[in-house]
Amino acid sequence: MTFAQRVLIFILTDLAPLLLSLAFIIFIIRQQIKCAKDPFVCPNCGEKFYIKWWQLFVGRYLFVELTGKTVLTCPRCGQKDRCRWTGRGR
Ligand SMILES: [Zn+2]
Repeated sequence: MTFAQRVLIFILTDLAPLLLSLAFIIFIIRQQIKCAKDPFVCPNCGEKFYIKWWQLFVGRYLFVELTGKTVLTCPRCGQKDRCRWTGRGR
């Protein structure tokens, strides 16, 4: 095997999956930052509040995208409830 072939195999088997997963992680984080720019609304007191993007860890972010709601603790009334995401349906 020549050196060039070894490099090619290394890129295909190790580097490509690594770069792909890195690109996927960056994509998800960017989506989460975008998602966190729109406030959530508390169903109990109507308070609009923002959360940090890292609070939308992957599972919660996907849930918000799918249903437009997620369970959060309201900073005003302190109730843990399904809060509506205002960024949906634009
Ligand atoms: Zn509230």
